[in-house]
Amino acid sequence: MKDNLINEFDSLLKKSTNTLIIPHKNPDGDALGSSLALNFFLIKKGYNSIVISPNEYPSFLNWLPGQNEIVNFSLNQNKVISLIDKADLILTLDYNDLSRTGEMESLLTSTKIPIVMIDHHENPKSYASLTFSEPEISSTSEMVYNIISKLDESKIDSNIATCLYTGIMTDTGSFRFPSTTSKTYLIASKLIAIGANQAKIHQNVYDNYTFDRIRLLGTCLSNLKKIKDLPVVYTFLSQKDLNLNSFKKGDTEGFVNYGLSLKNISLSVIMIEDKLQNLIKMSFRSKGNFSVNKFAKIYFNGGGHHNAAGGSSFESLKDTKENFLKAIQECKKDFEI
Ligand code: 5GP
Ligand code: MN
Repeated sequence: MKDNLINEFDSLLKKSTNTLIIPHKNPDGDALGSSLALNFFLIKKGYNSIVISPNEYPSFLNWLPGQNEIVNFSLNQNKVISLIDKADLILTLDYNDLSRTGEMESLLTSTKIPIVMIDHHENPKSYASLTFSEPEISSTSEMVYNIISKLDESKIDSNIATCLYTGIMTDTGSFRFPSTTSKTYLIASKLIAIGANQAKIHQNVYDNYTFDRIRLLGTCLSNLKKIKDLPVVYTFLSQKDLNLNSFKKGDTEGFVNYGLSLKNISLSVIMIEDKLQNLIKMSFRSKGNFSVNKFAKIYFNGGGHHNAAGGSSFESLKDTKENFLKAIQECKKDFEI
């Protein structure tokens, strides 16, 4: 992280009183953890700072310190409009394209307030006055640690440590993805020393299944298919599968990873029907050379990282499966067999 960026960020902050922090729609542990941590930091530095989530966040994050103060745009649109009116600085965390804020996009594209992007996805758009973009870093939470430790390390307390540890742990798949470096571990170690309770955080995030959720995972695993002669598996959940198991937001989080636990599989895909939004939400996870970021971008209106990406299809579940099978055949040469 370049010092001149930190200095520019510092001078933008010095000109501000009211700051807004906005994670992406359907925020995950990294988006929410990094946003809440930066919010605690700014409040400790004397700013009027607020986190606005574009919509509801999953229940496995509803224990995070500071989450009670989050303003939910989808439930309080007028409040958010007046907060943006009064804001001096907007910080967008864990995405690099304003479309990732869903229905908030037009509010953010039309505002004249300076925006700071802090993000680790590839190919950032140029909407921000100041862009922190580091695709090689494990998580936005790791970036926020680097930024706030340069601004004022003494302000990092157990709340900030807990939020940052949660973001790093969730985005690194509990420190197992290749994006996890020795620096990631050093930061995690410092966060534990400051007060992040790693065993409790892991339990809060991962050991919280409802009976419905584990049955839905059962359906997802029994739908799993392998593509002949390729190291690829895919699965799907129909709206009916979701309804039968009282689906709640966040219930399918992590399901796509199970496919990668099979021996000699380097791509796992899940397709989830959403009749309300009239689309199929897709998640892609790979190991090694196959870029799911490119695959999601070319075939399924999405993107993300080299080994973890998402996208959407606007056709039926049946047609989406067929399109996916055709797309994979076009990419056959990209798999190291
Ligand atoms: P997930 O599969 O967990 O929803 O997302 C995996 C990664 O891909 C995350 O880093 C997320 O930010 C990114 N991602 C998910 N869905 C989309 C999408 O529709 N468009 C883009 N550009 N990125 C996505
Ligand atoms: Mn992230």
